Amino acid sequence: SKPVATPAPGIVGRLFGRSASDEPRRELDDEMLEELEEMLIQADMGVETALRVTANIAEGRMGRRVSSTELKELLADEIARIMAPVARPLPIFPKRPQVVLVVGVNGSGKTTTIGKLASQFRAAGKNVVIAAGDTFRAAAVEQLQVWGQRAGVPVMTAPEGSDPASLAFDAMVKAETDGAELLMIDTAGRLQNRQDLMEELAKIVRVIRKKDPSAPHNTLLVLDATTGQNALSQVETFQKLADVSGLVMTKLDGTARGGVLVALADRFGLPIHAIGVGEQIDDLDAFDPRDFAKALVG
Ligand code: GDP
Repeated sequence: SKPVATPAPGIVGRLFGRSASDEPRRELDDEMLEELEEMLIQADMGVETALRVTANIAEGRMGRRVSSTELKELLADEIARIMAPVARPLPIFPKRPQVVLVVGVNGSGKTTTIGKLASQFRAAGKNVVIAAGDTFRAAAVEQLQVWGQRAGVPVMTAPEGSDPASLAFDAMVKAETDGAELLMIDTAGRLQNRQDLMEELAKIVRVIRKKDPSAPHNTLLVLDATTGQNALSQVETFQKLADVSGLVMTKLDGTARGGVLVALADRFGLPIHAIGVGEQIDDLDAFDPRDFAKALVG
């Protein structure tokens, strides 16, 4: 039989340390608050957010002895309160096709997320088309074709190195002809050359607007939770490159507890449409602020 892995203690677990008692208690004093703050920062929550959360916990409670259970609940409440407004599924528009532009750095999980989303929409009975817009990476195109097969969704491709905007246009035509409800367009994630990338994304947008001035209806930024604080600068960068309308955070199944999501919600307020929790097609969940908060503080 496989050994059962004990989950690493979360923020509150570490704050109370090993204790013989089932219900350890600690006085809520400056020392404890400082430790708490430090742990929130270590958990990628960002300094500003950590300070505010700590201050809210301290308010009216200084000098009280709190149990680990109480503190877990307080902290989970605070975090869930920050996260609740951003927990929103991908909005569905009546427009056919609804055009979803997917952006993010290479390796963040764009291809995988597109495959998972396509599968979910297919399961909901929707007609979906995918455009493999990262025409510079042959591997990305092949991967997307594999995902398309798994999801039962056609994938539009173009020869390596060809213009992604022209592919996007062809995909618009196909999606319209097919009566597709959804068109997902993958894009390149080469941040090494931002100017090129910006022009490329702008051109894709310009071209699809020739077919539909209201498109793209969503611009999804895919972020990798294991990159920690890096995710914050990625949002800033991509907001300059594209009109980011929402986020998908991937790889929350690994060691990353995703504290950076709290910092992201606090700083940008962008909706979190879904979270990636594995490499399989069904490993995309709706973002649940309470579950997330509980797992983070645990
Ligand atoms: P892209 O370069 O942005 O298109 O990224 P990919 O979709 O190719 O993903 C990069 C790697 O991350 C692949 O090995 C995926 O299997 C993996 N991956 C993507 N999403 C998740 C996730 O939610 N959890 C885990 N564990 N791995 C993921």
